[in-house]
Amino acid sequence: WSSRDFSWTRELEVNNKKVFGNPSFRPNQREIINATMKGCDVFVLMPTGGGKSLTYQLPALINPGITLVISPLVSLIQDQIMHLLQANIPATYLSANMEWTEQQEILRELNSDYCKYKLLYVTPEKIARSDNLLRHLESLYVRELLSRIVIDEAHCVSQWGHDFRPDYQGLGVLKQKFPNTPVLALTATATASVKEDVVQALGLVNCIVFRQSFNRPNLRYSVVPKTKKCLEDIDKFIRENHFDECGIIYCLSRMDCEKAAEKLQEYGHKCAFYHGNMDPAQRSFVQKQWSKDEINIICATVAFGMGINKPDVRFVIHHSLPKSIEGYHQECGRAGRDGQPASCVLYYSYSDYIRVKHMLSAGTVEQSPMTSGYSRLNATNPGRLLETNTENLLRMVSYCENDVDCRRFIQLVHFGEKFDSSTCQKTCDNCMKVTSFIEKDVTEMAKQLVELVKLTGQKVSASHILEVYRGSLSQMVKKHRHETVRHHGAGKHLAKGEASRILHHLVVEDFLAEEVKKSDFYGSVSSVLKVNEQKVRTVLFGGQRIILRFPSSVKASKPVKCDL
Ligand code: ADP
Ligand code: ZN
Repeated sequence: WSSRDFSWTRELEVNNKKVFGNPSFRPNQREIINATMKGCDVFVLMPTGGGKSLTYQLPALINPGITLVISPLVSLIQDQIMHLLQANIPATYLSANMEWTEQQEILRELNSDYCKYKLLYVTPEKIARSDNLLRHLESLYVRELLSRIVIDEAHCVSQWGHDFRPDYQGLGVLKQKFPNTPVLALTATATASVKEDVVQALGLVNCIVFRQSFNRPNLRYSVVPKTKKCLEDIDKFIRENHFDECGIIYCLSRMDCEKAAEKLQEYGHKCAFYHGNMDPAQRSFVQKQWSKDEINIICATVAFGMGINKPDVRFVIHHSLPKSIEGYHQECGRAGRDGQPASCVLYYSYSDYIRVKHMLSAGTVEQSPMTSGYSRLNATNPGRLLETNTENLLRMVSYCENDVDCRRFIQLVHFGEKFDSSTCQKTCDNCMKVTSFIEKDVTEMAKQLVELVKLTGQKVSASHILEVYRGSLSQMVKKHRHETVRHHGAGKHLAKGEASRILHHLVVEDFLAEEVKKSDFYGSVSSVLKVNEQKVRTVLFGGQRIILRFPSSVKASKPVKCDL
């Protein structure tokens, strides 16, 4: 697909320079354009900032007729159109909150044989709800003036993705109605299963896939234990590594954002907060201040970041557990767009898992603007959605708990990409500290922990189980007389952190489940561990071994016998 011998090659080169002002093509751009110009259905996975827009805007300019672009957010659409108009490319959009007369005028223009527009942007709701629009598209199609259909942020089609948007699922209708129009699906985030889901839902035929590495060599990743003094730690980190530089701190709740911003201001940072509960004017004011470097740091929920193109973000800090590896990768991706080194630090505590899980099931987690107000309300199967969310969250827990494997490796494996950890060059915490690791069979300890959960009646929390396992004689333990149960103290010999690593592994692998019990007035939640009887019986007690990797500084502990 990299050939320069297509009939359109010259026109491509000229317009790329003249209209878009680009000196050359970026990786894969020429290939994608050739494939879609040839009339193939194409699926593109390219990291944010890779230059996806050009791959349809340039063909739109060259092809006769009009290119239909489905994009999730009106604000993103408006931004794109502003850029197109600046480059003198006639483009427009239709949205529900537009004046009726204005919409009519655009539709009338579409009917004309000399339609002036090269690109028409719409939100997925328009396709799902407007028969009128579909009729106009049909009329373009029969006149051979519908040259291409572009699905931007195509991962929103999939329930397995982290940004599911029900109206995206209905987009399959486009291929049914317009089988001869090539479809170009674009996303910056998709695992193999999400990709399959999208291809199927859109009905893409013999689809050609372009996939670019999602590795971002200039980002440095680390996971740090989250303590009670987390904000002090963050202040210290910024002071020592990025003083006066620009960054984002992602927080879980609106209140967390406000608290973090207030504290960091006290510590002398130029800082503001940003979340979905502010009015739009306030939000855009904060965003502008940040873009113009009047403030350095934004404490934000995931509502912040879409379509933000600030090149010199030097750090992205996660004050709480992100909801998925995809989300995490995308949020970190806002750092270091200029190619210069940038830090991504995640403050992790297992208790945040319980908190996020609770918020997910209560539906109080702030969503990215791409899906906010959509996924929960319109979900075709809310139960499945919650399950997917929990699964995504558990992957994130497992990422944080892993203190051996290269962070890049774990992220990229998640995207189905092979990555040789030796090329990380010690730019993640694990590669930096771990020179070697040992593999350890922890099956017997896993069995003991599961038994302990049962013996204490499946009524206590993970941290209580760990206390009993390590032989604590605390008041709580005594109150429940748990010093008398079998396996009390059986994990005494284990190195610090080892038992919790095993226990958390059992949750991640679905041998145990965290059941959120209650949330008090202040929003704190407690949870208890339950046993997944069937999996425990068939897998754990069915002969499968559990092997975990530990840094070799953790001493191999003596094998223990589990007398069952
Ligand atoms: P994506 O949609 O993949 O996140 P964009 O299409 O917004 O990325 O492009 C990111 C930036 O890269 C834009 O500022 C765009 O003008 C620029 N860009 C795209 N292609 C090229 C190119 N071939 N040469 C130079 N700059 C480019
Ligand atoms: Zn690494």
